[in-house]
Amino acid sequence: MSALQHGRCLCGAVTIEAVLAPEMGACFCDMCTRWSGSAMIGVDAEAETVTVRGPVKTYRSSPFAERAWCDTCGSNLWIRDDGKQYELMPGLFPNAGGARLTHVVYADRAPEGWNYAGEITRISATDYEKANPFVSEGDMP
Ligand SMILES: [Zn+2]
Ligand SMILES: [Zn+2]
Repeated sequence: MSALQHGRCLCGAVTIEAVLAPEMGACFCDMCTRWSGSAMIGVDAEAETVTVRGPVKTYRSSPFAERAWCDTCGSNLWIRDDGKQYELMPGLFPNAGGARLTHVVYADRAPEGWNYAGEITRISATDYEKANPFVSEGDMP
């Protein structure tokens, strides 16, 4: 799964080329749920493989991260920790680049009627913040 994938936003103004990781993760934290309108699913891509063209806007949602969208159609594009790898929205790419959903973080924050079933690793808010001490759901501006 190391081929270059070609993605685009809804209107086509933004195009993204990237080598996508084979695994996707969903996040039910308050920020990701509000921003995406659902559970945000992201797929990692190393920054050096990512080429972005088009009108992109960004919002600093955390002291350490930004979220990006197409300025024309509003499609969500990525969340990215400063200078680090992209977590791209898999829906921009045909068949999500072939990636599989393998894990859910903030899994204990998922609404009762709205979660993912199946063989997925589920990580609670407490465990996730323990493993990533710089992250806090309370970082909302
Ligand atoms: Zn667009
Ligand atoms: Zn999140």
